[in-house]
Amino acid sequence: MDNNIATFQAWIHGMGNDGYMYSALGITIILFMIHTYSTAREKKKLRHTVNAYIEVFQKAFDLSDDALIILSTSYKVIYMNKTAMTLLGLDKNIIDKVLTPMPKIKRKREWESLSTCISEKVVSKNTTPVRAYPKSILKDRRDKETEINLFIDTVKMTEVSTGEYTVVSMHDLSQANAHAQMEYKHSLTKLPNQLQILQDLPALFSKVHIENNKIALILLDFDNFTRLRSIIGYEQANKVVLKFSQYLNTIVSTFNISVYHTFDNHFLLTVSNLESIEAIENFVKEIQAKLANFYKMEDVNLHLTVSAGIAVYPDSGSTRQLLDNAYKALTKAENDGDGKIEVFLPQKSQSKYDELTLHNDMEGGLARGEFEVYYQPIVKADTHEIVSAEALIRWIHPTYGFIPPDVFIGLMEKTGFIVKLGRFILEEVLKQQKRWELFKFKQIGVSINVSMVEIATGEFVEHVKEKLAYHRVNPEFIKFEITEGMAMIGEGETEKYFHRLKKLGVSILLDDFGTGYTSFTYLKKFPADIIKIDKTLVDYILENEEDQRIVKAMIDLGHNLGMKIVVEGVENKAMVTMLDSYGCDFIQGYYFSKPLPVFEFQKLLR
Ligand code: C2E
Ligand code: CA
Repeated sequence: MDNNIATFQAWIHGMGNDGYMYSALGITIILFMIHTYSTAREKKKLRHTVNAYIEVFQKAFDLSDDALIILSTSYKVIYMNKTAMTLLGLDKNIIDKVLTPMPKIKRKREWESLSTCISEKVVSKNTTPVRAYPKSILKDRRDKETEINLFIDTVKMTEVSTGEYTVVSMHDLSQANAHAQMEYKHSLTKLPNQLQILQDLPALFSKVHIENNKIALILLDFDNFTRLRSIIGYEQANKVVLKFSQYLNTIVSTFNISVYHTFDNHFLLTVSNLESIEAIENFVKEIQAKLANFYKMEDVNLHLTVSAGIAVYPDSGSTRQLLDNAYKALTKAENDGDGKIEVFLPQKSQSKYDELTLHNDMEGGLARGEFEVYYQPIVKADTHEIVSAEALIRWIHPTYGFIPPDVFIGLMEKTGFIVKLGRFILEEVLKQQKRWELFKFKQIGVSINVSMVEIATGEFVEHVKEKLAYHRVNPEFIKFEITEGMAMIGEGETEKYFHRLKKLGVSILLDDFGTGYTSFTYLKKFPADIIKIDKTLVDYILENEEDQRIVKAMIDLGHNLGMKIVVEGVENKAMVTMLDSYGCDFIQGYYFSKPLPVFEFQKLLR
């Protein structure tokens, strides 16, 4: 007996999240004890002990944060703790009744009655395992939904009866969720905080890419706040911050704006569907004007000003740098005086790229991951389905921000660094192709721009061969873009070289077609599979009939030579319709998409 009680006490003591299990076992023991000790005196004494334990038990269970229910064989409620009653939206007199109608539960997608879920038989050989349904949704009788972890266990009472008791435990996750959500809110203003902005930005950037739009990050900071705080005191200063946050919240609903409270007294606004930088500056000026006579304290008007740092994507740098650049702009604004606005424009800080700086930074930039391959889709002219992409390199420089490739490619060709960069691009593209293959993306061809300097090393073909074999990428999906100008250098020799390249199984695309003077006889011999008609030839195609005739003739010529035609620089629907009617095979241009970081490009592929 003492032994049994000791075990029993240990069970009570051990009650925690697993309380429901102990409770069931505890009741088993009580019933077992009554059954075993048979003399009248013993029984009486035992009943007292048992009653005392039951009381302790109930108190302990009622203290539990987990909802606990014990049901009989016929699913009558034997016991239910207070948490369970609250969670199920029940009142006290439900005890001793069958739980009908049962609250609803959603374990996966479908709603079902909790009783169906509880009475579900588990097919198992000897043991009945605890059934666990994490992250289920419970709907109480007033249709209030709560996320819970649900556990169901059955206990056989072989010593007492043949019955089987069911123990149900429900762990309310809403508090933990609310707690987790608080982490993403500023403790004073309850506005989303720095952690939240970091979570939200990638989605915002994707949206901007897809909608071909711009987005501004505006950082606002009270000027001389530390001094103000020392004058009016900590609590009053908090009130100022709070009132300002409430004001900012009112503008959020009217525009395409989100507001965050990042640190101390910094507020960050994101504005999408941006019209112009002037519009943003005017918007900030309105906030500043509003603030000028905004806070009154005991009949004293506080003179409050905020400074603003603005960064606009994509003008102010890459997605990764935008927030940093907004801070840089804010620092500059604050250094310039009170109530100033500064827009971060990389080109503005230095009127022109310093060639020496770029030259010195190439090597390190490549090592630091400042170069990134973007992909621009190429679609079928008739169905608009993506069939391939052009890999275009981007350099996101720490001081200059986004540098257009036209600026650094030429410089890299001069210094020979282009060979190293070209190898990096090939490696990136091959790895990406492999990833797309593994993750079952639609297989598309990727075309890579090749510089004459790379060809001149005489090692290009060997290198490509080696890398194709290493990454085991099907050469069918790799194309190399050779400019018309390159193709014409030293006619016979280059032609032979490109024949060798083609033997690897890759395709060759003649880029910028129409800007050079390729003779038809030469074009016939050149091993190109595709001709890409240059943007300059189609820029005025809608209004210029001569351009229309030229482009149409080029398309026909290419087709007669057995080549496919891509037109690049297509920016509107009318151009697409016209080029399709001319028989153009593929189209590349901003109308379909700008070059995108791989993550965003993948979304188009899906
Ligand atoms: P490209 O080979 O003629 O590349 C096409 C350029 O036109 C790309 O500029 C592309 O973004 C742009 N473009 C595409 N569609 C449109 C459109 O509808 N409208 C307008 N306005 N432009 C459009 P990007 O990326 O600035 O590249 C410029 C040049 O830099 C490329 O001209 C290419 O010669 C060179 N380049 C870019 N990436 C690489 C690379 O990875 N390797 C080498 N060697 N050169 C590269
Ligand atoms: Ca190209």
